[in-house]
Amino acid sequence: MNNDCLFCRIVAGEIPATVVHETDTTLAFRDIGPKAPVHVLVIPKDHHADIAALATTDPKVAADVMAAAAAVAAAEGLTTDGYRLMFNSGRHGGQEVFHVHAHVLGGRPLGPMLAPQ
Ligand code: AMP
Repeated sequence: MNNDCLFCRIVAGEIPATVVHETDTTLAFRDIGPKAPVHVLVIPKDHHADIAALATTDPKVAADVMAAAAAVAAAEGLTTDGYRLMFNSGRHGGQEVFHVHAHVLGGRPLGPMLAPQ
């Protein structure tokens, strides 16, 4: 655990979150500032800064995060109409919290993949 990391503190139960799914290696909770009717974050319980760090050091847990995201999407009723799974990475990717997390977004048409310039 990284004591300076917001999401590590959520895993530790020090900061409250609305948890919707949990496994031995992953936790999924609702985003505090939802950008769509369904907006859930899926994280590994262990601290890794971004998806590249996770995939390099623990590919099995990277797969666990993907499987958990799919389970969340199904539980949230997103299977029929679809959803977006997104990992922001680094400054240009818009990453704000440096504990890797998958955004599961859905519940309405999400529009183009990127905002117009
Ligand atoms: P990113 O920009 O990809 O790093 O996304 C970080 C996300 O974390 C944003 O969508 C925030 O709304 C969300 N967030 C920040 N603090 C919390 C929190 N305490 N509980 C749930 N989601 C949070």
